[in-house]
Amino acid sequence: MLTRFAPSPTGLLHLGHAFSALTVWRVAEELGGTALLRIEDTDSTRCRPDFEDAIHEDLHWLGLDWPRPVRRQSEHLADYADTLDTLAARGLLYPCSCSRKQIAQAGAQPGWDGLVYPGTCRHRPMADARPGDALRLNLAAALDAAGPPPAFTETGPLRPGSHRPDPQALLSGVGDPVLRRKQTGDPAYHLACPQDDAAQQITHVVRGADLWNATFLHVVLQTLMGWPVPTYHHHDLVRDEGGTRLAKIAHSRAIRAYREDGLTPRQVKALVGF
Ligand code: GLU
Repeated sequence: MLTRFAPSPTGLLHLGHAFSALTVWRVAEELGGTALLRIEDTDSTRCRPDFEDAIHEDLHWLGLDWPRPVRRQSEHLADYADTLDTLAARGLLYPCSCSRKQIAQAGAQPGWDGLVYPGTCRHRPMADARPGDALRLNLAAALDAAGPPPAFTETGPLRPGSHRPDPQALLSGVGDPVLRRKQTGDPAYHLACPQDDAAQQITHVVRGADLWNATFLHVVLQTLMGWPVPTYHHHDLVRDEGGTRLAKIAHSRAIRAYREDGLTPRQVKALVGF
């Protein structure tokens, strides 16, 4: 059993992250497995080395430990590029030059991951890709190519059981996701995350319920690429010891702010119900 905590070093870890990390390590312990730390630092405009150092330090301070070396996504860019090449060769990607404003003006409706792309550039061949274009997955074509998506097992407290992605719900809920970001050419989360879960042979993905919808898309990508579908465990938002939801403001306060206030790791863990 192998699971992972996969923060992005775009800021300091807050209490919500503490709850998530502690849940990851608890599930690993319960199942006799191992929890890895993975640094999801593909967003070259927002990730910073000092935030990455702070992740290591804060998790250690909370009493957590993990095997080395730690996988840093920025060291595997060629692997994500290979996957993009594979998808392009199968005719499943297209270049997109639309700005957010153009997408909104085209009448796009909000989905679970921002506006659902209305398909303006879908007719464009890859040969037409210009520097700075995003690359999008043609989701309808990808669903056809992948065949009926398999069910995944969810062991989290909110919706335990077996769940199968519904192609129609995916098409209307997310549309054609960006797999390579515009301007920077950075791989997108929806590509790098499931690819690394496969590369690291993660058997259990433990993460927040805010990523519930993303899991259905990740299962489609896993099927498309022949990657294994792990077991998922989506945890609820952070709750305090008494089981009440922590206010958003407390939830997003940095772990080190509590530390600077003089709280011990034990007290911070208690704040999030551990
Ligand atoms: N980097 C993502 C985040 O911080 C990871 C989500 C996941 O665990 O899949 O939200």
